[in-house]
Parts: sequence; C-alpha cells; structure tokens
Amino acid sequence: MKILVANLGSTSLKYRLFEFSGERATPLHKGGFERVTDYAAAIDDCLADLRDSGALSGEGDLAAVAFKTIMAENLSGCVRVDDKVLRAMEACNRIAPAHNPPYVEGIRVFSEKMPGTPMIALFETAFYQWVPEAATRYAVPESWFELGVRRNGFHGASHKFIAERSAELLGREDVAERARTLYARKEPQAANAPSLRVISCHLGGSSSVTGLLDGVAVGNSFGTSPQSGLPQNNRSGDLDPFALLHVMREKRLSVEETENVLSKESGLKALSGGHNDLRDIKAEADKGNAAAQRAIDVYIAQIRHWIGAFHLELNGLDALVFTAGIGENNPWLRAKVCDRLDRLGLVLDTDANAAAGPDEAVISAPEAPVDVMIIPTNEELVVAREARRLLANAA
Ligand code: ADP
Repeated sequence: MKILVANLGSTSLKYRLFEFSGERATPLHKGGFERVTDYAAAIDDCLADLRDSGALSGEGDLAAVAFKTIMAENLSGCVRVDDKVLRAMEACNRIAPAHNPPYVEGIRVFSEKMPGTPMIALFETAFYQWVPEAATRYAVPESWFELGVRRNGFHGASHKFIAERSAELLGREDVAERARTLYARKEPQAANAPSLRVISCHLGGSSSVTGLLDGVAVGNSFGTSPQSGLPQNNRSGDLDPFALLHVMREKRLSVEETENVLSKESGLKALSGGHNDLRDIKAEADKGNAAAQRAIDVYIAQIRHWIGAFHLELNGLDALVFTAGIGENNPWLRAKVCDRLDRLGLVLDTDANAAAGPDEAVISAPEAPVDVMIIPTNEELVVAREARRLLANAA
C-alpha cells in the first residue's frame, strides 16, 4: 500500500511517498517545490515526478494522500477529508492565516485532480487530547471557550515522533509502543515504572516545546493558534492581550492591520530588525548588531522558560531533545539553552555538541543524569502511519 504525504506551505509543496507492508513503512521517494504560485501546476509536477521516478505506476497505485493539517473547528484526530472537514478547516483560516489556507486550497486541488483517491488529514492538535484540562484552559468566559479560545498545542506529529524515537533510544520499548499506538486507543496503554520524562524542543521556522510523560504530552507552548508560545520567525508568540488593545487604540490599527503585524512582521524578524532566518540573525549578532543579539537572547529565554515549566510538571527530567532546523543545526544555541542547568542534571559534552547534527546524537556529558539528544524529526512518517491505520480500520 502506497501513501503520499503532502506538506503544503504558503509557497511550497513538499512530499514523501511511503510503501507499507502491514504496519512497516518504507520511504520510496521524496521531492518538493519552492516558490509555488499555482498549486494545480505544482501537484501535476509532483505526480509526474512520482511516475518518472518509477515510485508510482499511476494514480490507482496510491491508497491515499495524507496531510499534516493544522486545525479545524470542533474537529481533531485523523479523519478522511470531505466537504464538511474542509469547511471546519476554513472556519479556522483567520486563526491560522499562514497555515490553514494553503491546506484547504491544496487538498481541494488534490481532490479535484484525484477524485478516486482518499484524502486523509491528521490534525496537529491531535497529540494534545490527553493534556490535563487545567493546562488547556484560559481564564476567560465560557462563551469564549466555546468559540475555541483554549490552549490547543501544535507540532503534534513532530512531538509524537520525538516521543516514540526518544523512548526507543532510551531503551524504553514500553513507552515507545505506548506513543506509537496513542491514536489507536481512547486512553493510552499502560507503561512500566519508573515514568519516562522527556522535553521535546522543536525549534525551526515555527518553534514549540512539549513535555512528554511516558510518551504522552502534558502540554505544549502553543496556545489557541500557531502564532503563540515562543517567538516565531515572523510571528509574535505570546503577548499580553491588553498590550494588544493598547497598541490598537494608540496606533489606530484595524483588526486586519494588527493581524498582519502579528503574523508577518513580529517574532524574531521584528526583534532583530528585519531578519527571520536564525542563520542571518546569528551572523548579524556576531558582527555586533545589538538588535540581532537581543532577538537571540529573547528566543533562548523563552525556550528555557518553557523547559522550566515542563521540568516542574514532569517532576524532573530524563531527556531533553532538540529537533527541527534550528535545534538540529546550531550547537551554540543548544549550549546557551543548557547553560547553568547543571544542578538540574543538564550538562553538555562540549565536543559532542559541537560535532553533532543534523543526525541523531547524544550530546550530554557521559556522567550527566539527563540525556540531551538531537533527533531529526519525521512528521511525514507519523502522518503516513495514521493514514494507513485509518484505511485499515475502514476496510
Ligand atoms: P520550518 O519550520 O519552516 O520547517 P526549519 O525546521 O527548516 O523550518 O527551520 C528553519 C530554521 O532553521 C531557520 O531559522 C534556519 O536558520 C535554521 N536552519 C536550517 N538549516 C540550518 C543549518 N544548516 N544551519 C543553521 N541553521 C539552520
């Protein structure tokens, strides 16, 4: 059974094809296009590439196209996409303007091009369905909660992969199996004692931190939308709601103008004076640019803030994991994040850290009580596996 996972950005289409034999997935092919202005053309090119590479004999050879979708109104989990699902996604377009619309549009185009092929969505919020209620509520009126004002959490596929893989690497197959089969059950299966406590830092264009207790999330730094939590590349991250009201009044900004600043002109880009790629910000900081250095300092302070929150919630820590573009590729940032945490058991091996990335590696000192690891994430594999499970259950 072959499943295509399509990753739709506002101007990009990336894809991976997997072949399943039972539950076992083999990656067959991957590709992608940047600067996409016409999804229909990009999807044609994607299908042509899959055929030309020999990975796919034709459309009938594909069991499903699966998507790492962001959010939908009153809907999460892994579902077959129909018009109702697309409308529920559309209802969240304004909450996730950079993320939801490309998926809605891309899935529509895929369905038109391949009417006989199931389209399957795994929502990024699904991983947080077992988060304790106290960690999901904001202190707002019930009617606001009913409108969706709550902590959702995102990067679910990535943090789920880290939950599985970190447990495997730490020799805890019971926890790995628990994490792997999470969506197949109503309640997570039992894990052995002692509990496994992991904090996963997904640091990239979008960044978030999650606490994992025996492979299940206890919370995530994102809130209602993927604009919240840590400072993002060009999105604000957490902000006092009254600061927002103040600025809107003083600068006489409309809702649309405010949304534009929060989702395109804030985050590391605003702090650093215009750069939204950490490589450029670091180069500027190294040249003595104080704004760029401040952007880095704020970002690291917020990462540490969330690590601290989950460290407490988990009652200690067995492993800290770095993943995604920033987490995998920047030893200097990992060193800063772990600086002065020796009394919490976090001590890096300087040489191992400097030499590591982007492959899997342990970068903590051999005698340190907490393992610090780099694990490249594999969100597409998580999506493909859940799509296969959905198809198998429907059969
Ligand atoms: P996205 O969240 O858009 O998928 P990534 O996970 O690729 O993005 O992360 C993008 C960030 O990762 C950028 O800020 C970039 O600076 C950083 N990054 C990616 N590759 C490298 C690298 N080889 N060295 C240093 N930083 C990198």
